[in-house]
Amino acid sequence: MGKPTGFLEYERKEGGYRPKAERLGDYRAVELQVPEDDLTLQSARCMDCGVPFCHAYGCPVANVIPEFNDLLYRGNWQNALDILLTTNNFPEFTGRVCPAPCEAACVAGINQEPVTIRQIEMALIEKGFKEGYLGPNQPDSYNSAQVAVIGAGPAGLAVADTLNKCGYRVTVFDDAPKPGGLLRYGIPEFKLEKKIVDRRIRLMEAEGIVFEPGVRVGEDISYRYLKSRYQAICLACGARGPRDLPIPGRDYNGIVFAMDYLTQQNKRLSGEALDPYMEITATDRNVVIIGGGDTGSDCLGTALRQGARQVTQLEILPEPPTERDPSTPWPMWPLILRDTHAHKEGGTRRWAVTAKAFIGENRAVKKVSCVEIEWRPAPSGDGQIPMEKPGTEFEIEADLVILAMGFVDPGPCKLIDEIGLKLDHRRNVKTDHNRMTNVDGVFVAGDMTTGQSLVVRAIADGRKAALGIQSYLEK
Ligand SMILES: Cc1cc2nc3c(=O)[nH]c(=O)nc-3n(C[C@H](O)[C@H](O)[C@H](O)COP(=O)(O)OP(=O)(O)OC[C@H]3O[C@@H](n4cnc5c(N)ncnc54)[C@H](O)[C@@H]3O)c2cc1C
Ligand code: SF4
Repeated sequence: MGKPTGFLEYERKEGGYRPKAERLGDYRAVELQVPEDDLTLQSARCMDCGVPFCHAYGCPVANVIPEFNDLLYRGNWQNALDILLTTNNFPEFTGRVCPAPCEAACVAGINQEPVTIRQIEMALIEKGFKEGYLGPNQPDSYNSAQVAVIGAGPAGLAVADTLNKCGYRVTVFDDAPKPGGLLRYGIPEFKLEKKIVDRRIRLMEAEGIVFEPGVRVGEDISYRYLKSRYQAICLACGARGPRDLPIPGRDYNGIVFAMDYLTQQNKRLSGEALDPYMEITATDRNVVIIGGGDTGSDCLGTALRQGARQVTQLEILPEPPTERDPSTPWPMWPLILRDTHAHKEGGTRRWAVTAKAFIGENRAVKKVSCVEIEWRPAPSGDGQIPMEKPGTEFEIEADLVILAMGFVDPGPCKLIDEIGLKLDHRRNVKTDHNRMTNVDGVFVAGDMTTGQSLVVRAIADGRKAALGIQSYLEK
């Protein structure tokens, strides 16, 4: 424990955001870093609790938080980073986009503000890159087994990085033009600049990992081909099957899925080719986003930067409380109203509302017909069900509707059928405790087995699959 009285002396300090007017004029990262000196004092707020809930309960990769806080307070940045890297392959991603369940579980958070763990994590890794603490480090020798990883999102990258460090030659295939998965094509630039993804990919290449972008496994190359060349295969293809809204008028032009919209903007910013007939932009449009979650918030921030006339975000659930709800006590992830930076930038949020129909003209959407919802106890006694409130119908002008209602399954994947993988009731791929599927030597990691989740969970799952592959290959 760096300073026993630190939590009594110092208040939580965050980096904050660039001014609204400035950040709306570009797509650069909105969050600012806490200056180094202030950060050292922030680490002094850590109480080195007997049971560190942040590490043992909150953080999916089990970052050893009290230990790196202690080292940072003593000015030992390099050892603090070494400790962080024992549990997290990519702190520069989680340090930027993790919702920080560790902070929700921080003991200081019971009666004051939690330690700024996420920002400390980001500062440690950025210092590491700046000071050259990170390598490249290739293993001393490679063994004969080779592994193919399909999917270069955070799960696939974590599998590849972990196995490479253990001396396995790894090739990562991805159907997208560049590696990164949702880090590159889903999460907007203003949350995670793509130069951060490029930097990591360059380091992984320098450490010996081979990337084969632009290859769709199951179509461009077959499972049979991979099986003949690699001793183990890990699928990390994500869960991109979007939830649809099959209401009247769904076929009008101008109604798109969030991922199509966000992917285009990310490609546009990095100068990648777009189909000119399929371009989606919110410029000068009345935009309605259906879905009040984080993906919806990413669409909001993007639409505001594109110059939308107005943006409305609809959510079927009621507005959450502003204080932690008693149904999610500490150290649980709290049910609480979350305003992202995008919500502070503009747009209107409406809660407990559902869309009933899309109204159009000349094959294009013009309005969304909506009604307010009341949540009532289900007759079965199990949970609540939405009931329309009579007389509350209303319409919203809309020439672009973005469906951001979550993801239901891995989406169409010829590979799953070709290999004959068993799926669970949600169509996620089933695995054993080592992340191996029903097919010998075929493993799965990340959203493809857990369902759409978080970057940190994908990394945690990738690490788990890598250990499963290692014990399989060492049998
Ligand atoms: C818009 C959006 C914003 C998000 N924001 C956040 C956030 O702020 N914080 C957070 O923690 N989480 C966020 N998430 C969730 C997070 O991005 C995912 O949980 C995480 O990326 C899952 O990692 P993954 O590696 O399992 O899959 P993915 O990142 O989806 O990567 C899968 C990769 O596999 C490739 N692939 C698929 N099929 C094939 C095939 N047959 N052959 C070759 N390649 C294939 C895909 O092209 C893709 O590159 C967000 C998700 C979305 C959609
Ligand atoms: S990865 Fe996420 S949960 Fe874990 S320490 Fe970092 S911010 Fe917290």
